[in-house]
Amino acid sequence: MLTVDEALALVLAQAVPLPARAVPLVDAHGCVLAEDVASDIDSPPHDKSIVDGYAIVADDLRQGEACLVILEEVVAGDVPNVPVERGSATRIMTGAPIPEGADAVVMVERTEHQVHDSSHLGRVVIRDRDVRAGRNVMRRGTSMRAGDVVLQRGTRLRSIEIGLLAEVGRSSVQVASQLTVAILPTGNELVEPADIPAPGQIRNSNGMLLTAAARAAGGEPILLPIARDAEEDLRQKIARGLESDVLILSGGVSAGVLDLVPRVLAELGVEQVFHKLNLKPGKPLWFGVARRGERSTLVFGLPGNPVSSFVCCELFVRPVIARLSGRNDGGRFQVRARLEVDYQQRGDRHTFLPAIYRVGDDGAARVAPVAWRGSADLRGLVAANALISLGAGEHLYEAGEIVDVHLLDEI
Ligand code: AMP
Ligand code: MG
Repeated sequence: MLTVDEALALVLAQAVPLPARAVPLVDAHGCVLAEDVASDIDSPPHDKSIVDGYAIVADDLRQGEACLVILEEVVAGDVPNVPVERGSATRIMTGAPIPEGADAVVMVERTEHQVHDSSHLGRVVIRDRDVRAGRNVMRRGTSMRAGDVVLQRGTRLRSIEIGLLAEVGRSSVQVASQLTVAILPTGNELVEPADIPAPGQIRNSNGMLLTAAARAAGGEPILLPIARDAEEDLRQKIARGLESDVLILSGGVSAGVLDLVPRVLAELGVEQVFHKLNLKPGKPLWFGVARRGERSTLVFGLPGNPVSSFVCCELFVRPVIARLSGRNDGGRFQVRARLEVDYQQRGDRHTFLPAIYRVGDDGAARVAPVAWRGSADLRGLVAANALISLGAGEHLYEAGEIVDVHLLDEI
């Protein structure tokens, strides 16, 4: 049977990044950059002081002590007028340009200001054995030079990148187009969250879960009304879902008598890429592509059990949304950690176990399965912040063994 990695490769092979669009910088947080961005300035634009103090010639402090004439005062935003020479100093504030001739700044805390007469700025006495050329000076262009590429295409914009884009003069940027993700829950037994389930019914939790997951992954979700397990209803609602870039169905892809989804998808011309893979939970996953001119719709049929749905969404839908958005980090977060307890792996499927990942006081990463009762136990999954990935095959994993961990951070 298809492995998880093989299936992911098949899925990603169908994902062509969407075209770019321009957005105002103020709206760009969370978007994926669709251009390389170069700086239009040197930063800092001048040699600047990184403390409040006195700009001096470092040689004046050779003996660890000096009394210097104060020439002028320069605050951030000013331009110094007088060159500093031996025996003199300029009072300078953080961020202000270093005057010509000065090569170091002494912090104000290490100085003593003396005023001799009111018309004059006075003198400063400095006692500091530790002053060398360059002290407390940030050289022009230390952070970046004009023309340097400071952000790469494919970067997801956090507040840090937004600040940097502002620093390099961008008020708008090219980002990946917003991609639409339709979510279609299927099942005769489903009622909406606001309803009280009658005998035999359950609430449609996947609709909301997948809507939130699609948004967290960077898509724009469109939640469709529940489709019943009847061909005509499925046909109509799937056709609506096929207007989006991605369609996620939940339910109806297993081997039950009312699992009609694969058949209806085929009738609507959606090409199956695979159905079923060696995964637990999530074995019945269906994936295919509907081609419509330039753009296609990537179609996922997720098994209905909420934990299976969630795991398939994490493993396949999230990376696809990342790829379609042009994101260059894959949108998945994998680490390794030590198992805290023994775990007996049974059966022959690659397993993703809900788990708690933590870094101990000793700095070592550890992971332990949470107590949960199978694919329908969404409540049990709440304790988890990670999935432990265990290869197929019988194996007793012992406490202390290092295992692969998939983090469930929604960033
Ligand atoms: P299915 O994949 O359609 O055979 O569904 C498998 C299990 O998941 C059944 O117990 C369904 O009741 C449940 N299920 C299906 N769809 C949903 C949903 N939208 N929300 C919560 N549970 C669901
Ligand atoms: Mg069903």
